[in-house]
Amino acid sequence: MNGKAVLLIEDNEQNRYLVTFLLEQHGYTVVPAADGLRGIEAAQTFVPDLILLDIQLPRMDGYAVARALRKNDALHGTPIIAVTSYAMPGDREKALEAGCSGYIEKPINPETFVAELEQALSQAGEDLS
Ligand code: MN
Repeated sequence: MNGKAVLLIEDNEQNRYLVTFLLEQHGYTVVPAADGLRGIEAAQTFVPDLILLDIQLPRMDGYAVARALRKNDALHGTPIIAVTSYAMPGDREKALEAGCSGYIEKPINPETFVAELEQALSQAGEDLS
């Protein structure tokens, strides 16, 4: 159990449910947001230890959300891990340019998701363990 708070910005309800379940199993606390605006709002009311950001979001895509989150001084040191589609290789570079710290590829593999997340964090120079 690590007690770290994750802000999960994901529009797909099944993915939100799956990722929340996997993270809670590993002791994370998850605050879900179904779109970018709600995620940005949530990050104004609490400072998460980590933000998981879907890139394909309605209205405001993940790149725009990452740029907006990075304008919030309170989130200066907060890792933002993008969740990108395997079919869209350019997503990763664009996510890093937009201020993300690392990325995980979709589809989400329940067997490896948390390990992938922790690897992405350590590659980004973060160690949440
Ligand atoms: Mn999506």
